[in-house]
Order: sequence, then structure tokens, then C-alpha cells
Amino acid sequence: MAEVSLRKLRKTYGAVVAVEEVNLDIAKGELIVLLGPSGCGKSTTLRMVAGLETISAGELYIGGRDVTGLEPKDRDIAMVFQNYALYPHKTIRGNLAFGLNMRRIDPAEVKKRVDAAAEMLDITHLLDRKPRQLSGGQMQRVALGRALVRDPAIFLLDEPLSNLDAKLRSRMREEIALLQRRIGKAMLYVTHDQTEAMTLADRIVIMRDGHVQQIGSPLDVYDHP
Ligand code: ADP
Ligand code: ADP
Repeated sequence: MAEVSLRKLRKTYGAVVAVEEVNLDIAKGELIVLLGPSGCGKSTTLRMVAGLETISAGELYIGGRDVTGLEPKDRDIAMVFQNYALYPHKTIRGNLAFGLNMRRIDPAEVKKRVDAAAEMLDITHLLDRKPRQLSGGQMQRVALGRALVRDPAIFLLDEPLSNLDAKLRSRMREEIALLQRRIGKAMLYVTHDQTEAMTLADRIVIMRDGHVQQIGSPLDVYDHP
């Protein structure tokens, strides 16, 4: 069975249909990119998986479990936000540990996970700093690290690189691809950037007007746009 399964997911706001119907199975280790123009429903789809928007109709399965009505904390997910959403007064170590401490995970285990994530993202030397002392690229790594320490079934990323300059963006793109291959988890990644989709995705889901227009490998989608 798929690691994550979106079945006829639908989202309406009153009379506005934001997502008409999305069906998608995501395998373990698969990186899926949701691609499409602004307003097509990418973000809403991702936020329904995250539990940040209620699901109007349809079902969502994560790790074989029906999580349709569950809160974000009860789903096996971690989200990386475009604005990084770091706590300004906490150190980087504090930021990485916060979610785990809230979940009352054993401090020794928290330290182990934070140190491992920091090493994987090459931010060990930044652990005692505060977010304001970091560059944009470094903050992006910390935001990834905060998701990584959770060890979720699926990583959810909403335009994670849009605040970075072009050079850094292409470097982080490579790093995310490498990281994803290394950890072997499912990833759902929203972007409107075609290059990002082509270089990162195992499969690209092209959305238009709240529904899925096409699903395929980058080559499929590129050859038959
Ligand atoms: P994308 O991420 O592809 O840019 P969104 O998922 O943000 O698209 O939005 C899809 C559609 O849903 C858009 O038409 C948007 O205006 C509408 N929408 C999103 N959020 C709301 C909301 N809170 N209330 C009403 N309409 C919304
Ligand atoms: P954690 O570090 O475990 O994510 P947080 O306290 O940072 O814990 O987040 C609590 C919940 O709020 C999480 O489910 C997270 O997805 C959500 N959240 C965190 N930052 C934002 C944000 N900028 N916008 C929307 N939701 C957020």
C-alpha cells in the first residue's frame, strides 16, 4: 500500500471550490512535486495533507491510517514553511528541539536526533546561534532540520526556496534532492517553478483549476506538455 494516499480530496470555501478533486498515491521514498499556476489549488492540497485546512470531502491516509479528521500533531507529517517559521528568541538547537520537547520525547533522544540532523544539514557550527545571526540559506537548513528531527512518514514543503536568490536556490534544490534520497521518506513539494519541478521530482502532478491535469515523470511531462 502507498505510504500516503489522497482520495478524492476536495476543499470548498462557501461557494468557492479551491480543490475540486485530487487523487494521488505517494510511495515511500518518492518525491512528488505539485506544479501549476497561482490559484490552481496546490497550497490548499498540501495544507489539507498537513491538517492546516479541514478536508471538505474525501479521505487521507498516512502510513495506512485514516487521518482525515485528525489534527496536525496526530498525523505523521512535518511541514517546511516558506517563511522558515523559526522562533527568534530560541537558539538553533532550541528551535530544532522544540517540537520534540513538546512531545515529551526523552532529552537524550532529542539531543541525538538534533545532532544527527544538524550534521546531515551541515549546521552543527550554528547550533548556539539565534536565527537573526543566520543567512537565508542557513535559516532554510534549520527549517529543514526541524522537520527532519521529527522523522515523519512524509515531508511537506510549500515553495521552500522562494525567498532565496537564484544561486542559493539551485544549490538548495540539489541538497534537498540528495537529502530526500538519503532519508528515503515520502515528500510532497509545492512550487510554481518548472525548473525546480523538473530537477527534483520523481513524479510531477500538474494542477489546473482545482484538479489534477496530468501526472507523470519529468520526462513524460516534458515530452507531452
Ligand atoms: P495555489 O497554491 O496553487 O496558488 P491555493 O491553493 O492557494 O492555490 O488557492 C486555490 C484557490 O482557492 C484560489 O482560487 C484561492 O483564491 C482559493 N482560496 C484559497 N484559500 C481561500 C480562503 N481561505 N477562502 C476563500 N478562497 C480561498
Ligand atoms: P513543531 O516544531 O513540532 O512544528 P511548532 O510549535 O513549531 O512545533 O508548530 C506547531 C504546529 O503549528 C505544527 O503542526 C506546525 O505545522 C504548525 N505551524 C508552525 N509554524 C507555522 C506557520 N508559520 N504557519 C502555519 N502553521 C504553522
